[in-house]
Amino acid sequence: MSDRPQPQPGILKIAPYVPGKSGAGDGVSKVKLSANESPLGASPKAIAAYRAFADRLEIYPEGTSAELRQALAEVHGIEADRIVAGSGSDEVLHLLAQTYLGEGDEAIYCQYGFSVYPIVIQGASATPVVAPEADYTASVDAILAAVTAQTRMIFLANPNNPTGTYLNVAELRRLQNGLRPDILLVIDSAYAEYVTAEDYSAGMVLVRDSQNTVMVRTFSKMGLAGVRVGWFYGPDHVVDAVNRLRGPFNVNVAAQAAGAAAARDTAFTQALCDYNAKWRDWLTAELSSNQLRVTPSQGNFILVHFPDVDGQRAPDAFQMLMNAGYVVREMGGYGLPNALRISIGSEEAMRAVARLLKNFGTE
Ligand SMILES: *Cc1c(COP(=O)(O)O)cnc(C)c1O
Repeated sequence: MSDRPQPQPGILKIAPYVPGKSGAGDGVSKVKLSANESPLGASPKAIAAYRAFADRLEIYPEGTSAELRQALAEVHGIEADRIVAGSGSDEVLHLLAQTYLGEGDEAIYCQYGFSVYPIVIQGASATPVVAPEADYTASVDAILAAVTAQTRMIFLANPNNPTGTYLNVAELRRLQNGLRPDILLVIDSAYAEYVTAEDYSAGMVLVRDSQNTVMVRTFSKMGLAGVRVGWFYGPDHVVDAVNRLRGPFNVNVAAQAAGAAAARDTAFTQALCDYNAKWRDWLTAELSSNQLRVTPSQGNFILVHFPDVDGQRAPDAFQMLMNAGYVVREMGGYGLPNALRISIGSEEAMRAVARLLKNFGTE
């Protein structure tokens, strides 16, 4: 017997989360390009919907997020009763892991995959298994090769954060077709609103007729990161199982309303996509023209690789940008110590970052 309460076996294996540096404290106000937030703020309709709840705070939310699910069903052409909403997709990922994983089970994610996956896997006391990538891109063959008799889930961000790379719909199909029917494939399409590649699918077509695939989405990257709204679309039996575990009022009233309004504001979503594509592709071209390398991105951020030269590595560039008032994301935690992730922001910020990095190390 232990002399104090013990957490479940997986919990203390979770590496403590290291947040990006905020740059606060040196008295200089900073532009934050470190969290992939919306470059155009939130939909004005979502802001109005959120405000409308300020004088009704004493009322419990409608527990199934019915209005939000209805809006999503209409906008995406899917069935409302196959959607589950959560307090951010973080909660959705935790719920899926808690529902399908336990001690002795394995779940696969990719080498540079989103850092929340090992947390939710270990949080369910299961074992994370890492599939290697090629060219900073998920490899279907490597994922399939990592499957064992213990495998219960696959977590794939598409496009992936922090690399920005994606698998096209044919590759997704090949992955889905290569899995045993008892393995749950989780396609995390957090950046779907930003993708411009024509051979991309957020995954709805793969979920529609399958029994072992879910698509996870979030409003965080399209303007509602502070509100916390995410959701998944999946088979009826998965929806039923997760709904048994889900807290009865897990999405707050204002988040449900803001999410529904944001989903319906498709003009804003399109404007966000257009703005982002313009500046993502501009910044990629600007930075690729010297000794820096940029991984081609479909998200609202780019991954920039620095030369292995004294004074010109990623930590040097990070500090130089910080001193100039721009906070970007260090990538050491992802095993990419000589790269930085830069979120797409205002035109002014993009022009400044391009100028600073192009001159960096050459003066
Ligand atoms: C940002 C992000 C999420 C989600 O976040 P929430 O804010 O919890 O909805 C999920 N997956 C990926 C790959 C992300 O980058």
